[in-house]
Amino acid sequence: RHLTKWFPIKRGLALKTVGNVKAVDDVSFQVYEGETLGLVGESGCGKTTLVRSMLRLIEPTGGEIFYKGEDFRKLDKKELKGKRKDVQIVFQDPFGSLHPKMRIRTILEEPLIINHYGDKEARMARVKELMRLVDLKEEQLDRYPHEFSGGQRQRIVIARALATNPGFVVCDEPVSALDVSVRSQILNLLKDLQRDLNLTYLFISHDLSVIEYICDRVVVMYLGKVVELASSDQLFAAPMHPYTQALLSAVPQVRPSGKVEKISLEGDIPSPANPPSGCYFHGRCRYCTEECRTKAPKLRDLGDGHLVACHRYNAE
Ligand code: SF4
Repeated sequence: RHLTKWFPIKRGLALKTVGNVKAVDDVSFQVYEGETLGLVGESGCGKTTLVRSMLRLIEPTGGEIFYKGEDFRKLDKKELKGKRKDVQIVFQDPFGSLHPKMRIRTILEEPLIINHYGDKEARMARVKELMRLVDLKEEQLDRYPHEFSGGQRQRIVIARALATNPGFVVCDEPVSALDVSVRSQILNLLKDLQRDLNLTYLFISHDLSVIEYICDRVVVMYLGKVVELASSDQLFAAPMHPYTQALLSAVPQVRPSGKVEKISLEGDIPSPANPPSGCYFHGRCRYCTEECRTKAPKLRDLGDGHLVACHRYNAE
């Protein structure tokens, strides 16, 4: 609730704070148990900072984070470490996130040792179970990461994230470094694991076709703020925020049905160190009015859980 993460801009020899980069600016949303909530937006919109703040890998500047009713920000380091068993993350780069000199057996055992999981025998049984869960073979346990393909490495990364039996998994661009041909295999694996293990996912991607395929609901971010939140069906059938409309119109379609209007966005995403006045999107929006230049729109529920931050819908 109202989560913010500002990075101070320091200048001069005395390193005086002269401003802030508002990477995450008053963000509120809920992730329901068992769902996949997507998080989309251009590079630099604050997706990764938001997730790192949520998990307290970096300390938020303000706001509240609740996990299963518990105030995550009030936990001390020891309590936080205990909770991390239940909250895991799958990173984007399966090449960089596995230690090249460690055998898969050691990579998968490591989180079990850290979390005091049974004796050696129990840990090895769990490691073999994890390999089965991600459709890899027990005989591959003594190999090193470089002996696996990109898709197989991402399976190992997923297995490591599941080692401590988490309930909530953040998937940070988990398929964007993979060949298109193996993306669907990993997405289907994530779906199967969610069904079998009752997992909740927060799924970050800039690939909207991936988001549409895997997510139940979607949060759209622009310059550190949530501009739209809706079910996947609502968002892809009838996007309401002009930014979401432009994002969706840019998705290439293999077999376009009907005429799809292409909306090209003018200019770059503004700097979060110096955001525009009023609606942060006004400099790139074709519907911009005087009100948009001076007044920031609030995120409002337009019915059926479809939330939009745009003055166009104020009168409806
Ligand atoms: Fe465009 Fe105005 Fe809506 Fe912002 S508030 S998205 S500038 S119409």
